[in-house]
Amino acid sequence: MTTTPEFSIIQRYFEKLTPQRDDVKLGIGDDCALLQCPPDHVLAVSIDTLVEGVHFFADVDVKSLGHKSLAVGLSDLAAMGAKPAWFTLALSLPEIDDGWLSNFSQGLAALANEYDIQLVGGDTTRGPLTISIQVHGFVKPKLALRRDGAKLGDYIYVTGTLGDAGAALQLKLQQLHAASLSTGDIDYLEQRLQQPAPRITIGQQLQGLASSAIDISDGLLADLGHILDKSHVGAELDLEKLPLSPALMKMEKETAVQLALTSGDDYELCFTISPENSKNIERLLAEQCQCIGIINDESGNINTKQDGKKIELKGKGYDHFVG
Ligand code: ADP
Ligand code: MG
Repeated sequence: MTTTPEFSIIQRYFEKLTPQRDDVKLGIGDDCALLQCPPDHVLAVSIDTLVEGVHFFADVDVKSLGHKSLAVGLSDLAAMGAKPAWFTLALSLPEIDDGWLSNFSQGLAALANEYDIQLVGGDTTRGPLTISIQVHGFVKPKLALRRDGAKLGDYIYVTGTLGDAGAALQLKLQQLHAASLSTGDIDYLEQRLQQPAPRITIGQQLQGLASSAIDISDGLLADLGHILDKSHVGAELDLEKLPLSPALMKMEKETAVQLALTSGDDYELCFTISPENSKNIERLLAEQCQCIGIINDESGNINTKQDGKKIELKGKGYDHFVG
C-alpha cells in the first residue's frame, strides 16, 4: 500500500491529537465522522478562516497560530453559551513542513485539551497557507445566548479588558509608540493578540441570565452594534467604565479609549442583562466583568459619555473627544 503525503500528515499530526470523546462514534479516517448529540440539545456550529498575510503575519509564532485558529471558533461557542464538543480542520499548505505542522498541532492540541473538544475530520490540500476550523458545540435551544434579546433598561457588560490585541497589532505595525510600556507590558499585549482566551466558562454562566451576547472580534462599537441592530434598541456607554489593562492605562487616555472602542481581536464577551439578573452575574463573575452602559430606545444608536458629558462618535468609529 502506498502512503500519500496527505494521509501520513493526517496520521502523524492529527488523528490522535485531541481528546477522544465517547460521543464520537467514528472519527478521522472515513468519509464522514459520526457524532452523537445529547438529547434536548441543539448543535451550535461556526466556521472561521485565517489566511496568511490577511489574518496573521508570515513570521507568526506557529504554536500560537494553532491556538488562535481554534480559539476564535471557541469564542463563537462561548458567545452562544454553547459547550464545545467537536471541530474539523481544513488546511491548505504551500508545502509539507514538519516543523510547522508539529508546532501548529501542539498549539491546537493544548487548547483542545483545555476544553475537551475533539478533532473529528478535515481536509488537507496544497495551496497558499489557509486554516479553516469549524467548531461544534451543544446548547439547549432556549438557553442559547443570541444577539436579538437585548431589552430596554438592560445593563451592558463586557468581560476582561478591551483594546489589548489592537494595541499589540498597532505596536507591531509601528502605528503606536511603546515609550511608556515595559517589556512585560509588551509581552502581555502580544499574548493577548496571539493567544486569546475564549470565554467558554463565562458563556455558560450567562445561560438563563443574559438577554443577549456577542464576542468582540471586530471591536466593541461594531459588535455591540450587531446586538443593537438585531434587538432594535440603542445603547448609552460610559467611557469611564471601559475596562483597561494596566498596559493600556499607561498610554495616552484618548488612544486607550479609542483602542477599547474600536479595535478587534480581543475575543472578550459583550452581553446585556436585566438589572435584577445583573446582581447574580456580578456575584458569579466578580471582577471578570464590568458594567459599561445601558440599553435605551434609540434604535441602532450608540451614545457615549465621559465624566457626565456627552462625547460624540463619528459613524461607527471613534475619532476624538468633543468637549
Ligand atoms: P476524502 O477524500 O474522502 O474527503 P480525505 O483523504 O480528504 O478523505 O481525508 C481522509 C480522512 O482524514 C477523513 O476522515 C478526513 O476527515 C480526515 N482529514 C483530512 N484532513 C484532515 C485534517 N487536516 N485534520 C483532520 N482530519 C483530516
Ligand atoms: Mg477530502
